[in-house]
Amino acid sequence: MNSKDILELKSLLNTPKEIVIVPHKNPDGDAMGSTLGLYHFLKGLGHKATVIAPNDYPEFLKWLPSDDTVIKYESQTKEADDLIDKAELIFTLDFNALSRTGEMETSLIASTATKILIDHHQQPDQYAAYMYSDVSMSSTCEMVFNFIEFLDGLDRISPEIATCLYTGIMTDTGSFKFRSTTSRTHRVIATLIDKGADNMQIHDNVYDTNSYQSLQLLGCALQNLRLLTEFNTVYITLSQEELDAHNFRKGDTEGFVNYGLSIKDVVLAVIFIENKQEDIIKISLRSKGTFSVNDFARTHFSGGGHINAAGGRSELDLSETVEKFISILPQYKTELNS
Ligand code: 5GP
Ligand code: MN
Repeated sequence: MNSKDILELKSLLNTPKEIVIVPHKNPDGDAMGSTLGLYHFLKGLGHKATVIAPNDYPEFLKWLPSDDTVIKYESQTKEADDLIDKAELIFTLDFNALSRTGEMETSLIASTATKILIDHHQQPDQYAAYMYSDVSMSSTCEMVFNFIEFLDGLDRISPEIATCLYTGIMTDTGSFKFRSTTSRTHRVIATLIDKGADNMQIHDNVYDTNSYQSLQLLGCALQNLRLLTEFNTVYITLSQEELDAHNFRKGDTEGFVNYGLSIKDVVLAVIFIENKQEDIIKISLRSKGTFSVNDFARTHFSGGGHINAAGGRSELDLSETVEKFISILPQYKTELNS
């Protein structure tokens, strides 16, 4: 973000505004942490801000400060559309294309509000008047911290803001272990702890609130795991039937795909999750090193994300999707073995 943009944004935020803050569909810890963190900051500056999520998010995020103020577009469409209509500023956080907001996209396109993008995904679309896009960042939460710093607002970081931003940095870095975790990330985290983020409690709230059923589902996923040694690749499938048998709830499969990458020498891990309601297979991809799952997901599975973490979808059925995936791998054999 250049100094001209910062000056303009400072001036825009100098007088109270009606503001809407939007995360991507199926929001994760970084999406909810960054939107709610920014929400608290903007409220502190005297603005009228509302977070509107395209749809619901997992239980393990339903303790974030002011989570109860979040409007869900899917179930509160009229209220959400009114707010979008009235908004003077719309912040879009943790995604790179308006299509990532699902049904909400039409209203966002129609809105005349000044749009501000803050995001760390690859290849952002050019829909926003102000873009703070940086693919080297660990998380959108780290970028919101920087954004607050650009606005000379670090003194305004409350325990609520610190808690929200800590949460998203923690979840998007796999608890500070992914490559994108820098010394600066750790400095930001240290500041957030100083500002009142209770690190142990946050970890506990997010990671240690599994249900018995969700651990059983993990067991099922691990049973279904297949190793393709020739391609240093692992894939996992979960059918709708298996999800139903374990009383699946949103968020229960979070992190499952990472187990594949913990096998020695594996560089690509993928999970295919059947969703009969939407009639699609949701795909999550993770890699180690230079193998770009962003490119892979964009090319073959209508998705995208980051070099080492991406998502996508397939309209084929579960077994056809897996067949398609296996048939693609030979093209990448050299890359997967380098
Ligand atoms: P996950 O596998 O956890 O759903 O997503 C991994 C990363 O890829 C996240 O940063 C997420 O925002 C991105 N991502 C997930 N699904 C999609 C998708 O369908 N399209 C795009 N462009 N990115 C996605
Ligand atoms: Mn993120």
